[in-house]
Amino acid sequence: ATIGPSSYDKAVLRKMFAAGLNVARINFSHSNHDQAEQIYNWVQELNEEENRNVAILGDLQGPKLRIGVVKEDQTLKKGEKITITTEECIGDVSKVYITYPDFPKDVKVGDKIMLDDGKLILRAESSNKENEVKAKVIQGGDLKSKKGVNLPNTKISLPCLTPKDLADLEFALSVGIEWIGLSFVRSVDDLKELQKIINDKESPAKIVAKIEKPEAIKQIDAIIKQTDAIMVARGDLGVEVPMERVPNLQKMITRKCIKYSTPVIIATQMMESMMDSLSPSRADVNDVANAVHDRVDGVMLSGETSVGTYPVQVIKAMSKIVKNQENHVDLEMEEFPPVEKKNGRYISDTICFNACKIAEQVDAKAVMTMTHSGYNAFKIASFRPPSKICIFTNNRKIMNTLSLIWGVQGYYYNEFVSTDDTISDIKSIIKEKGVVQEGDMVVNIASMPITEKGMTNMLKLSLIE
Ligand code: PGA
Ligand code: MN
Repeated sequence: ATIGPSSYDKAVLRKMFAAGLNVARINFSHSNHDQAEQIYNWVQELNEEENRNVAILGDLQGPKLRIGVVKEDQTLKKGEKITITTEECIGDVSKVYITYPDFPKDVKVGDKIMLDDGKLILRAESSNKENEVKAKVIQGGDLKSKKGVNLPNTKISLPCLTPKDLADLEFALSVGIEWIGLSFVRSVDDLKELQKIINDKESPAKIVAKIEKPEAIKQIDAIIKQTDAIMVARGDLGVEVPMERVPNLQKMITRKCIKYSTPVIIATQMMESMMDSLSPSRADVNDVANAVHDRVDGVMLSGETSVGTYPVQVIKAMSKIVKNQENHVDLEMEEFPPVEKKNGRYISDTICFNACKIAEQVDAKAVMTMTHSGYNAFKIASFRPPSKICIFTNNRKIMNTLSLIWGVQGYYYNEFVSTDDTISDIKSIIKEKGVVQEGDMVVNIASMPITEKGMTNMLKLSLIE
């Protein structure tokens, strides 16, 4: 859930935690560093106080384009001409400023220019290649200040990380935000560039690649393999590609993410009908339930919790839909057994897969493991086993990070005596916490010998005593 004016309050956040929040999103398009730091601190305090591992996703704006300030009551009509300028001015129906200095050089005649989430559509007619583009109105409407611009056909030369993004990123990494979202990802190189900065800062932060450009769709496999997680950012995606393609793209991306063990989040307008109403539309209920049915890792709220009237109730409603879908609908395990024997993770991937298969076969209540990097948690969860996934680590940041992943529950554990001791310890911990009961079957996977903290290479099936 995105934190904003409606949820910018520790008491409200506490209720959001209780309602089912797993990841708090800070949108750097709207939150400044003071607000972001305050949200960060509240989440850490609440994690302590409520014994939770809520993660933070810091979402970088990326090369988001906007128009400038526009006078009141400006309506563009179909067929009219408008000049788009790279020189700042107060806009009206004849001229409007765009925050993209190279637009006249990059645009081609015939390119679509979509304003305000695609409500207004223009077409480039000519450019002086310097500071002005003349465009014709294809679909008219009200021209409002500072609205977003999408250019689905133009090869945008802006860098993936703008100076503002670099400053936001530096801040996010310095406070310890677990997940970094990158908007308008166009290529694998964009992700590599971000990863390099994260590595240079020696930060463990993980990346969410937001899919909202046609270029990203073209190389979706490579992007899914490069990133730590994916967001299907349906808001901008539905402007950049025809809206009727979004449902299929959502399903295609979700399938591939599960296959590559990359967590996937579905975002934007999931519960839009609850912006100012206490009950969701049936269409929204279906949308959330369908995403859960497709086995996504996360369903995201944006305006609903940041500027909507009911930030807590919308999470409660969404949780109910998710739980009902998971508890009362027969959802099957995902069958993507590891095949590439050359892959350095082949042994541990095979153990993870078969741990889930065994859990399914004997109706085990939990699959459990220790992790240092979190890798096994991503892997196990990707098979969507019909049992709980209990991940033990001595790193609280990793516990938070894993909250974004399907079905994973993180626990703190810091003893490394022997594999036998660890297995018996963590079994008693989840029994004490009420996750499993006497007589339940559980599957443990581990690396032997444990002291080397090496690759997972063993599997044990046992009863809780
Ligand atoms: P945004 O991204 O909310 O940062 O625009 C999500 C989307 O475009 O759907
Ligand atoms: Mn977006």
